[in-house]
Amino acid sequence: MIRAAELFSQMGLDPDLTDGDGRDVHTPIDGSVIGSVMDTDPVVLDDSIGLALHAFEHWRDVPAPQRGDLVRRYGEALRTHKEALGTLVSLEAGKILSEGRGEVQEMIDICDFAVGLSRQLYGNTIASERPGHRLMELWHPIGPIAVITAFNFPVAVWSWNTAISLVCGNPVLWKPSEKTPLTAVACNALLRQLVEDEPALHGLAQVVTGDHNLARVLTDDVRLPLVSATGSTRMGREVGPRVAARFGRSLLELGGNNAMIVAPSADLDLARRAVVFSAVGTAGQRCTTLRRLIAHRAVHDELVESLAKAYASVPIGNPLEDGTLMGPLIDGAAFGHMEAALESARQQGGTVHGGGRALADRWPDAYYVEPALVEMPKQTDIVREETFAPILYVLPYDELDEAIAIQNGVPQGLSSSIFTTDVREAEQFVSAAGSDCGIANVNVGPSGAEIGGAFGGEKATGGGREAGSDSWKAYMRRTTVTVNYSRELPLAQGVRFDVDG
Ligand code: NAD
Repeated sequence: MIRAAELFSQMGLDPDLTDGDGRDVHTPIDGSVIGSVMDTDPVVLDDSIGLALHAFEHWRDVPAPQRGDLVRRYGEALRTHKEALGTLVSLEAGKILSEGRGEVQEMIDICDFAVGLSRQLYGNTIASERPGHRLMELWHPIGPIAVITAFNFPVAVWSWNTAISLVCGNPVLWKPSEKTPLTAVACNALLRQLVEDEPALHGLAQVVTGDHNLARVLTDDVRLPLVSATGSTRMGREVGPRVAARFGRSLLELGGNNAMIVAPSADLDLARRAVVFSAVGTAGQRCTTLRRLIAHRAVHDELVESLAKAYASVPIGNPLEDGTLMGPLIDGAAFGHMEAALESARQQGGTVHGGGRALADRWPDAYYVEPALVEMPKQTDIVREETFAPILYVLPYDELDEAIAIQNGVPQGLSSSIFTTDVREAEQFVSAAGSDCGIANVNVGPSGAEIGGAFGGEKATGGGREAGSDSWKAYMRRTTVTVNYSRELPLAQGVRFDVDG
């Protein structure tokens, strides 16, 4: 197995960065050790926050377009090292190479977006009710930001936060998943190289490594006005109240339980292809993975039959090899959760196809699985849960209103889609009375978003929005300014308060 050190060398980074003499990092491909990372000591973390504050004092005064130039150069570095970094993503997270490269492309895309944004950070000027007054909104940098990320998008999510934060004027302190720290060390080192000659900016981008205990220190520190946390709903349930208790701001990107409705008029071939990518891609370990297929009774059986065939032919194997479409689960715990969910589904009336362990003879320390298709007579408790594995529950429906009620009848609200050629159905699905998710697609699966739109979801998905559109506003503070250029002092709402003398 290729060692992480070799990929670091290819990127011009010190290979010793992968040998931290601490926590071993395993590749899910065969379970072998690919490097090691030392957990950050809380005292060092305190210094890092101090360094970030120091960087903030300088960075907030740099004009935004110049801040954008740093992000532009970072995007260039990513273009240069796309192959090596993409391979490192695949090695550490177990996703196929084309998805590893895709993740780096997503980083490049958000850098491009942020460079343009650096010249478009504008506020409104609002008509004042008072003569000789100007009312306007200014957007200012908010301060150092903590970014906590999940294992399954080990670099893209950080880059959404970082590219936007940097042009907004904020340093970033990153606590990656303890399962994927090496990609974080590499991304941060590539960025750090660009400010090496400017000591005041050494705290602009930092990475700290450790588990949820280290993350808790970040969530509780009042010097970090915004905590952007991506991960399970369980994690968000703790992070949200902790940050709120100190009146900090949190941006939560949590679990999903994404559905696709297939209507009688759907192009079934298109729908089948979208299902296979959305449900099986990344071995079912995307926040936007398709987990519930809600099929009209008129197309249900035909769809299940064609999916069963497609599922049986998915090439499962080493994600670094050409032709593989499905790599391993991240670890044995994930496999345990998958087995337990399938058992619950059986007990709740489901018929399970596939879902067994694969390639265990070849790689006993890795967890490859067959994707599972589970026919459910109705939406039960296990279907309402997010199991982070390739399990697709198939549910029948008769009327579109019923399908939308099933789609919305889960705690999570991230991504959703409908396959239909009926414009009325499509419009109903995306209307206010339709999907209650942050993302609602028509004839596109729920997985695989572009960075230009705002990304995130409602309900137990946390309500946060990241990446494109006006998501940048979450990373800045708004100041409403009234300037009186008259010689009078009129009060708002016509209030009179004149004192003689
Ligand atoms: P996880 O919740 O186990 O861990 C995510 C991060 O949170 C890690 O860095 C972890 O150390 C940290 N963490 C865990 N408990 C914490 C706590 N109590 N306080 C502070 N930090 C804590 O998630 P995971 O297994 O790495 O990732 C899978 C989950 O992430 C899935 O639920 C998936 O849907 C979700 N996810 C969501 C999005 C999104 O944009 N909505 C994107 C990717 C992943």
